[in-house]
Formats: sequence, C-alpha cells, structure tokens
Amino acid sequence: MVKVGVLALQGGVEEHLSLLESLPEVEASPVKKQSELTKLDGLIIPGGESTTIGRLIEIFGLKEKLIELGKAGLPIWGTCAGMILLAKEILGSGKNHLGLMNITVKRNGYGNQLASFRTEVEVPAVAEESLPLVFIRAPYVTEVGSEVKVLARIDENIVAVEEKNFLATSFHPELTTDSNFHQYFINKVNAR
Ligand code: GLN
Repeated sequence: MVKVGVLALQGGVEEHLSLLESLPEVEASPVKKQSELTKLDGLIIPGGESTTIGRLIEIFGLKEKLIELGKAGLPIWGTCAGMILLAKEILGSGKNHLGLMNITVKRNGYGNQLASFRTEVEVPAVAEESLPLVFIRAPYVTEVGSEVKVLARIDENIVAVEEKNFLATSFHPELTTDSNFHQYFINKVNAR
C-alpha cells in the first residue's frame, strides 16, 4: 500500500482523491499540515489558482517542508496550477513558488478565448492509446533544463514534463475517467 496525499488548500482536490482511490494498493488522503506531509510516499499538487495556493502554502507554513521533501526525493506531481507552483520560472514574474523543477511556464498560456478545451494526445511514456486531456486556463512550458524529460506536446507547446522525482502536467487527468496518468505517477512512487 502506498500513501499518496493531495494538497488540500484550494482547487480540485476531491477529483484527484477519487481517481487515486480507484487504483489498487493506494491510500489517498487530503493534506493540509506539515505532520501529514511527512507521512506520505507521494504528493499531488492540484489545479486551482496558483497565486492563491502559493499564498496558502506560506500561510499554512508548508513551503520549507515541501521544498525539503521534494529535494529529498518525495515524488510530487503538479497538475495545472500545481505545475506553476513547481516551476523555477514563471514568465513575466520575478517570483516563483516552490521552484523545484527546472522549467519555465507561461500562465494562462492559451489566453482567454481558448481558455478551456479538451483534446486527445499520444503520450507514449504513459499509455499505448491516445489519452483524453482537459485544459482549463492552462499553463504550458516554454523552456526546460537539459535533465527534464518532455512527455507530451500540443503543437509546439510542452504540456507534460518529468524531472527526477517530479511530474508536471498542464492538463487535468483527474477530470477524465482515464487513470493512466495517475497510474504512471503511482509507478513513480513505487519505483522510489
Ligand atoms: N490559470 C491558473 C493559474 O494560473 C491555473 C488553472 C488551473 O489550475 N486549472 O493558477
């Protein structure tokens, strides 16, 4: 049994929890406190509003602990706002949040007109069949460090990346019924 937490400060927490619970050998729980973080084998930072989640991480006193655990190898997956929180650089902003992944992200990369959409993309590292992807005011990655693996692109834009114990996706697998991405993350947790 692996213990996977979903950071439950703001955003799409329940959807991740129910997808995780559908997988075998996974115990999923919402986490809000330092003491809960240290008991985990893996953590998901969900979508929502990155500025708000970033502020709450500081208010709840979790920032240093998250950075420490991430650097020590805890598998962390950021979806959408979670991707922004993991990035070292946010375009047009001098600040970052956790800065754990060597990626540059563009917030609201798809602008307002095409703010939300659904598509299907092949992600060979994750599944043989193409996967349904849901984007909601999504960021995308504009630059990656040499050690970052690009898992998926849509046109020229990078939308899924992996670096050491970190995974980040622009889209929301938890809003589909497809569990391939969650299983991919659990395999990463188990491989640790
Ligand atoms: N646009 C949001 C942000 O910048 C992210 C959207 C999402 O997580 N669905 O935080």
